[in-house]
Amino acid sequence: MDPALLSVSSRSSDDELVVSVSSSFRPGSHDATHDAILRSSDTVLFYVHSNIMKASSPRIFDQFFASATSQDDIIDVPESSAVLNVLLHSLYDMSCASYAPSFDILEEAVDRMAFYHISPASQIHPGRRLFSLMLTHVPLLPLRIYTFAAHYQLHELAVQSSSYTLALSVSTVTDEMAQRMGGVYLKRLMLLHIGRQETFKTIFQDPPGTHPVTRACGYEDQKRLARAWTLATAYLGWEGHIDLPINVIRASFSDLEEGLQCEGCKSTLRDRVEEVAVQWAAVKVGATIPHSSKYVGILCPQYSANDIICCSPNAILA
Ligand SMILES: [Zn+2]
Repeated sequence: MDPALLSVSSRSSDDELVVSVSSSFRPGSHDATHDAILRSSDTVLFYVHSNIMKASSPRIFDQFFASATSQDDIIDVPESSAVLNVLLHSLYDMSCASYAPSFDILEEAVDRMAFYHISPASQIHPGRRLFSLMLTHVPLLPLRIYTFAAHYQLHELAVQSSSYTLALSVSTVTDEMAQRMGGVYLKRLMLLHIGRQETFKTIFQDPPGTHPVTRACGYEDQKRLARAWTLATAYLGWEGHIDLPINVIRASFSDLEEGLQCEGCKSTLRDRVEEVAVQWAAVKVGATIPHSSKYVGILCPQYSANDIICCSPNAILA
């Protein structure tokens, strides 16, 4: 049985009528007595309180409540129980995480809000349960949720999901996604990714330093290490790993070290790898980088919606 439902049996002569009732919105589930009963398209009943719903939107369910003459009249609502469940939990600012709704269901519920004169922005912002629930889907669906957030101008959700898009290539943005997110948010996404690539190049461009020339390892020998470094960083960049994990960086250059004979070169390489690892880690999770810095990385919540980017990626996720 759907965890959202309770089945109530009512015996009338020889016929048994089974009625499904929402477990979160059953009679007595809230302190106040219900004053309306909503029935979803798959015949699940939700016992609700019009004053709570009207606090979010004075005109909510206008067209439906008008047909009810008493609190026990059943009002049919053209939504599935899964979608209505999300809508009502949002209006009551209750978490429906225990029902584990898919993002398809969450998105459908938000898409239907306009029909009930509900503003998505009023329901999805930090502090609201629906916002928190959507964040749980971001690691698996960053680009889709960024697109969704952009479409509804949900700036905070766009900010939170934007850093996760760094693990993907912008080439995965489809025409439909670009159209849905709109020009402004598409531009911000592009700048975010370009900025991240520039940061990568800035941190990794310098090869390891040199050590004093010895009989076994001269200037030309050490230039080979610089060339190998350039090739290795180019490979990492070509891989599109602009959200490159630190362990991948260390592993890549560890392979390089194994090919070296000179202890002096190994030492300068290890020093340089540690240096870039620290710098890259600071960009990933570190403190805010000045707005004017070239280390641009993410849509910044500290600036208005018209500002583009600043801060380090993931700083707001820490
Ligand atoms: Zn050397």
